[in-house]
This record gives sequence, structure tokens and C-alpha cells, in this order.
Amino acid sequence: MTDEPRLTPRTLAAQALGRIDERTRAIVSPIHLAATFERDPDNLYRSGNSYGRPDNDTVREAEALIGALEGASTTFVFGSGMSAAIAVFLSAGPGAHVVAPTKMYWALRAWLANEAPAHGLSVDFVDAEDSRALAAALKPGVTRLVWLETPSNPMWGLSDIEAAARAAHAAGAILAVDSTCATPVFTRPLALGADVVMHSATKYLNGHSDVLAGALCFARDDPFSARARMIRQSHGMILHPFEAFLLVRGLRTLDLRVRAAAANALELANRLSNHATVSAVLYPGLPLHLGHDVARRQMKGGFGGMLSIRVRGGAEGAIAAAARVRVWKRATSLGGVESLIEHRASIEGANSPCPPDLLRLSAGIEDVEDLWRDIDEALNG
Ligand code: PLP
Repeated sequence: MTDEPRLTPRTLAAQALGRIDERTRAIVSPIHLAATFERDPDNLYRSGNSYGRPDNDTVREAEALIGALEGASTTFVFGSGMSAAIAVFLSAGPGAHVVAPTKMYWALRAWLANEAPAHGLSVDFVDAEDSRALAAALKPGVTRLVWLETPSNPMWGLSDIEAAARAAHAAGAILAVDSTCATPVFTRPLALGADVVMHSATKYLNGHSDVLAGALCFARDDPFSARARMIRQSHGMILHPFEAFLLVRGLRTLDLRVRAAAANALELANRLSNHATVSAVLYPGLPLHLGHDVARRQMKGGFGGMLSIRVRGGAEGAIAAAARVRVWKRATSLGGVESLIEHRASIEGANSPCPPDLLRLSAGIEDVEDLWRDIDEALNG
């Protein structure tokens, strides 16, 4: 029996697991920047540290906290979300059959379509928001990995994690979920049956648009997670200790930031639904959204801070509206404390399923009235 109090994720994050530096009693851990460590006289490395590429103590702190929030057995952080995701695919191959969604983060979809075959992966894209279509795309005994992204960037469709986990496991595959936009505040994919959770920690986990980072959280310590760890080590994909420190610092306020952004997003989604210049609002919290029922089941306590709008004036009208904002910032990325707006088709290119009239909005934590006035004026011209 332990007398440790059972703490909520919000408390664990606010206190960065409550760790105290043993030597100084500091309540904020020091940053360990060393790239190399002294061996013991008998040639062992009892500290657990040997060199900076395999591991680092500040990186381990970020991993322990993210792992606790996701309920993971083992967690690794990476130098970006892309490198974390690619480590999962490389861990599955070569020779693996992989199923991925047609609607997902565009750069990863492009990597899967253009680069993954060179690594011996065969990839099928399927509408993962349709659980039956997803199950039908699996080849029992052949498919090794199913990838989901929910809500999916930039149309915020929902995929049913529990149904996908059942189908993947029945086919002998594992399920990995890009949960960047749901965050562990609203969804814990491992508890729903997923085997791996991936984050672009550049987004909500860090939350201040000043760190590029990725994370993989595994349900089990097994050969698959060991391979991902080896790939991180040999490809030199580990996060720098200074960024790991900033990531932990950002994580301390994750719960407050994500809930504030989601409250702003919901309010804006409702108001924009009645805007004369907007033909559609894509937000999982709206009852008319196609994924609303799955979102209500799967996302606990909020629907996230991301929404998109389709502008009646087409691509030209959307780009012109984005040009007029003053409070929102015209920039790529998402999940920071400041609100961002972006014409997605301009960045995603010709093969993207993203409609040309779509503006993606990352709601920050500013006063919603300031955000509303600015976007309303920008849309009205
Ligand atoms: N997954 C999602 C949903 C994203 O939005 C992004 C980046 O925008 C990534 C993965 C890639 O993350 P990173 O830019 O940290 O490499």
C-alpha cells in the first residue's frame, strides 16, 4: 500500500509531478545540458546517463509528465511531431502494410504517400471517420499499423478510437493515434484501446509557440516501443534538453490553457455559424457537425480549440478576410496561447482534400470579445 495521494492530471501537470531537486531543494528542476557523462571507475554508468543522443534527464522529466497525463507505460519525446510520427512508421516496417486516414495532417500524409514506400512500407489511405470503411481496409495478418488523427486537421472530423482499436487488434495490427488536437485534457486514447499516442508537442503540450517537439506514449514496454526508442537514438531524433525544459514549463498550465481555448472556440463557432459571409463552420462541438456524436462520447469536457470556417467568397474571399485581421495572427501552426488564422489550401497544395475556401482558426486564450470583433470585421471587409 502507498500513502501517495491520488492526484488529478491537472494537479500532476501544475506541479510537474511534484518533483523537488534533491541537491538544492528547488521546486523547478535544473536543465541538464551535458552531452556526455563520466564513467564509474569500474567502467559502468550507474547514473543511467552515458551520452546525450540516447537519453537525457531533462528529457526524461518531460516524458514522465506526458506519460502520466496519457496513462502510458513508456514515453519518448522527439525533436518534432513529424520525427515522432515517422519513428512509429519506421518501427512498423519494412514490409509492413499500414492504413492511414485520407484526412490528416498534410505533411505526414505527404510523407506516407511519397517517402514511406522507399522505407518498405505499403500504405493505404481510407476514410477513417467511417469505422466500417476503416475495418474493411485492414488485411488480417498483413496490416501491422493503423494510424488515426482525431479530431483531424483541418476539417476536424472525428474517428472512433474504440472501434478502430477493436478492428486493428482483430486484424493483428496495432493502433496509433495522433491526439495533438484533442490533448490529454479531453481524450486519453490509451484508455480507449489505442497502443500508441502521438503528439506534436509543438502545439498544445508546449502551448507557447516557442518549441518544436513531439511525443510518443506507449501502452506497453514491448519490442515495438523498444524499436521506436532505438530509432530515436540511432537517427538522433531526441529533443534538446533546453526545449524539454520549456516543454515541462508549458505543460504546467496545459489544463487551464486548453480549457480556455476550447471555451473560446465553442463561442466563436456558435457566433460564426450565424455569420452572413460564412457558409459552414467545422467544429466538433456543434450538434450539426458530422463527428459530434463520436466527439461527445470520446472527448471528455470539451471539443478542443481548433475550428475551421468556409467563406462564401471562395479562396479569394478567404485570403482577403485573413489579410484584414489585426488581433488574430496570420500564421501556420496551432495550439498556442495566441490565436492564429490560416488559409490552409495555400500551404497544403494540389493533392489536399482541404476546400479552397477554408480558413483554419486556432483559438487562443485571449478575451473572446476581442477575437470576435476582429474576425467579424475581417469577414465583413
Ligand atoms: N500532427 C498534427 C495534427 C499537426 O498539426 C502537426 C503540425 O502542424 C504535426 C503532427 C507535425 O508536428 P511538428 O510540426 O511538431 O513536426
